[in-house]
Amino acid sequence: MSLKIGLVGLGKIARDQHLPAIAATDGVTLAAIASRNAFLPDLPHFTDVHAMLAAGGIDAVSLCTPPQGRFEQASAALEAGLHLMLEKPPGASVSEVQALARMAESRGVTLFATWHSRAAAGVEAARDWLANRNIRAVRVTWKEDVRQWHPGQDWIWQPGGLGVFDPGINALSIVTRILPAPVFLTGSTLEYPANRAAPIAATLDMQMGATPVRAEFDWRQTGPQTWDITVETEDGTLLLSKGGSELYIDDAPQLVAEDTEYRSLYTRFAELVAAGASDVDLAPLQLVADAFLLANRIEVAAFEDHA
Ligand code: NAP
Repeated sequence: MSLKIGLVGLGKIARDQHLPAIAATDGVTLAAIASRNAFLPDLPHFTDVHAMLAAGGIDAVSLCTPPQGRFEQASAALEAGLHLMLEKPPGASVSEVQALARMAESRGVTLFATWHSRAAAGVEAARDWLANRNIRAVRVTWKEDVRQWHPGQDWIWQPGGLGVFDPGINALSIVTRILPAPVFLTGSTLEYPANRAAPIAATLDMQMGATPVRAEFDWRQTGPQTWDITVETEDGTLLLSKGGSELYIDDAPQLVAEDTEYRSLYTRFAELVAAGASDVDLAPLQLVADAFLLANRIEVAAFEDHA
C-alpha cells in the first residue's frame, strides 16, 4: 500500500527534489499540497496545513517550509495521528524537536528528521573506510554563493533561519555520520553582516576525543561552490567532495553509487512507517546550537541580496 503524502511548503527544495523523488519512489504518492501561494494542477490544494489535515485523505506529511514556524505545523500533523517527515534542519531549536519526538512516540506515529546530505553517494563508503582507522585531523570547507543558492530567501537571515549554517549543517550531518565517535564543539567565530540577524560566515572548532575537527563555512564565495570534508588518517587521506557525492582516498577516486539522495529519504520514510519506527538524530543541530552558545561574534560589512 502506498503512503499518501501531503506536502507543506511548495518552494525551491520541494520543486527541485521532493516532487521528482516522490514520483520516482515506490511506496509513496503525492496526495495534496499545503502552501500559502503555490499549488499544482490536478492536486488538492490548501493554504495551510490545518485545512489539509481537516480535509483528510493523507497518511503522512512532508514539511518543506522554513524552520521558523515548523513546530506548529509539525505538532498539528502529529496530533492528527499522521506520520511526519521533516526537511533539514528539523526545527528552529533543539528542544522543540525533542518535544516533537516525544509527541510522535506517545501517538505511535513515525517522525523522520531527514539529513539529505547523509544520503549522498560517498557518505556510507566513507563511514566504512574510517570505521577502524586512526584519525589525526578533520577539515571541513563549505563555501558557496548565497545569492546563487538562496536568492531572495528572507527567512534564512532571520533568527531561526540559521544563516550560513543552513548549508553548513549539511556538512555537520555528514561529519557526525562518518566519524566513528561523537564530535563536540569547543569554540566558534560567527561573522554577522551589520544589517542581518544571522551569520554569513562561521568557523567552528570541534573535537572527536582529542582529534581536532575544524569547519569553515562562508556564503561570500562566488563562482563554483566548495563542499569538501578532508579526513587525515594514519593510512592516508580521505576526501569527500561535492557535498558527499564524490569520494577520494589519497587523491584516487573511489567508485560510489548513483546519486539518489531524496529518493533514498522517501524510501527510508516508507520503511520507517512500515516498521513503526522513528529516526531523529539531533547531533548536527546540537553542534549548530553550541556554535551559537560559544560564539565569538564579529560584525562585518552589510550584505544585500543584489550586488
Ligand atoms: P523556499 O524556497 O523559501 O520555500 C519554502 C516555502 O515554504 C515557500 O515557498 C513558501 O511557500 C512556504 N512558506 C511557508 N511559510 C513560510 C514563511 N514563513 N516564509 C517563507 N516561506 C514560507 O525555501 P527552500 O529553499 O525550499 O527551503 C525550505 C527548507 O528546505 C529549509 O529548511 C531548507 O534548509 C531546506 N532545504 C533547502 C535546500 C535548497 O537548496 N534550497 C536544500 C535542502 C534543504 P508559500 O508562499 O506558497 O507558502
